[in-house]
Amino acid sequence: MLNRVLDFFRPKRAPAESRCDSRTFNAALDNFPALQVLSEQQLDRLQERAAQIMQQKTFLGGSGYEPSREDRLSVALLAALPVLRRGLDWYQDFHTFVLYPEAFVTELDETDDDGLVHSGQDLRVGEAWSRGPVILAMSDVHASGQGDGFNVVVHELAHQIDHRNGEANGFPPLPDGMQPATWTRVFSAAYDRLLAELERGEETGLDPYAAESPAEFFAVASECFFDAPRWLSAHHPDIHRQLVALYGYSP
Ligand SMILES: [Zn+2]
Repeated sequence: MLNRVLDFFRPKRAPAESRCDSRTFNAALDNFPALQVLSEQQLDRLQERAAQIMQQKTFLGGSGYEPSREDRLSVALLAALPVLRRGLDWYQDFHTFVLYPEAFVTELDETDDDGLVHSGQDLRVGEAWSRGPVILAMSDVHASGQGDGFNVVVHELAHQIDHRNGEANGFPPLPDGMQPATWTRVFSAAYDRLLAELERGEETGLDPYAAESPAEFFAVASECFFDAPRWLSAHHPDIHRQLVALYGYSP
């Protein structure tokens, strides 16, 4: 009984995953130059969100891989970017990150416009299932956040945010005060412009993968917004403005 009373008064150690002390946080931050442009206040919030993500989400390894604490922290840091201001409600439809060390093989079953089903295998670095897990290759997580517009974690989480109001289609739920008509006009115009540039064989600023669909365009634009914000605001000011309003801040 006495032991129990003592236990009661003993300060509880936070579960390992919830601890994200400043030294660990700063060491992880060193790996991602794109995050170092954040203000001190934004970095505090980022640390808080990363700790919440580590606490609330499950991290599993694929193909027998055992994610390290550094793996989980790297993913959580990058995953904190889109919800830095909006909070983890935006991630409430999924619970698990599945981490592979390298690109992983996924089974493909797609129906084309003529109704033909194509089966096969595809090599992926990230995947987001509607109401399901976010799957990531750690090799590409480490290549993210380097300031060149690539961020596989943000890309897949943009799909998850897009899924919140149904099928991912490049039109996520917009916070109060945003005009749906403006979003559609701005993104449709930029998407059409990208298709036209590709058609003419011109160099495109955004990753040509964005031309795959409006959903991919939104995911690629979000990568740029967090990884190369100056470039995005210089080359696509309208898109940049919409994403500032959506995510609630500018990195
Ligand atoms: Zn995608």
